[in-house]
Amino acid sequence: MTIPISPADRVFVLTGAGISAESGLPTFRDSDGLWAGYRIEDVCTPEAWQRDPAAVWAFYSARRAAGKKAQPNPAHLALVELERALNLRDGGRFLLCTQNVDDLHERAGSVNLIHMHGELAKSRCERECGAEPVEDHAVYASLDEVGRCACGGRLRPHIVFFGEMPLEMDRIQREIARCTLMVVVGTSGSVYPAANFVHWARFEGARRVYIGPERPLNADAFTHVVEGKAGQVLPGFFHVEG
Ligand code: NAD
Repeated sequence: MTIPISPADRVFVLTGAGISAESGLPTFRDSDGLWAGYRIEDVCTPEAWQRDPAAVWAFYSARRAAGKKAQPNPAHLALVELERALNLRDGGRFLLCTQNVDDLHERAGSVNLIHMHGELAKSRCERECGAEPVEDHAVYASLDEVGRCACGGRLRPHIVFFGEMPLEMDRIQREIARCTLMVVVGTSGSVYPAANFVHWARFEGARRVYIGPERPLNADAFTHVVEGKAGQVLPGFFHVEG
């Protein structure tokens, strides 16, 4: 199966943990809601950060170490090819929004990219004092090594914890409202608000394609569900016309 993309189309792509699975990074739902063997409540919530910042940093330091070893796979590269085909021709008909915190999309070459759940390779002030997030690739062995902001607050991972507001939601809503094709890859449809994006696109009348080895929870909202691994389905999947 291929998906035709006409000169009139605007494409919004949403990716989840599944697109990085073939790069060796574990998904979140693979083992009953654990992520790499951890309970989300212990490491991915504001409460966990207040209670035990050392445990939170240990988890994200391990994710950083794993992320450095991983390489983009053919699915990441196919999205770069699609972006180049669309954005070079017509100044921006493609936006990639990822729930992933790894940097495999940008390392593959994606440019028009939103990390709605934050980025592993950055840290920011725990006090939300207004300082910008800073690039930070460190793998911390203990909390003593973690730096502080100029205001005195401890640096925390630049990650949207469960219960916090995802990033760039205004831009995401604007882009979904004007897309004509939504492509969703490797996400279980269980984390909100991302699980609602397909409903917003349906309201706008866009075509809606899901790609992944199993049907997501929100499968009924898609016009096509293609069951397969992203790295096998995505290369050659799009036919850009015109
Ligand atoms: P999820 O773990 O809930 O779902 C993963 C989905 O990927 C499943 O539906 C599974 O069928 C599918 N999948 C597995 N292998 C695949 C493949 N080869 N090709 C395509 N699909 C495949 O993931 P989610 O919906 O993204 O939600 C998890 C949350 O945890 C997100 O908010 C994300 O920020 C975070 N997370 C990020 C990473 C990462 O950055 N790599 C990894 C794990 C979790």
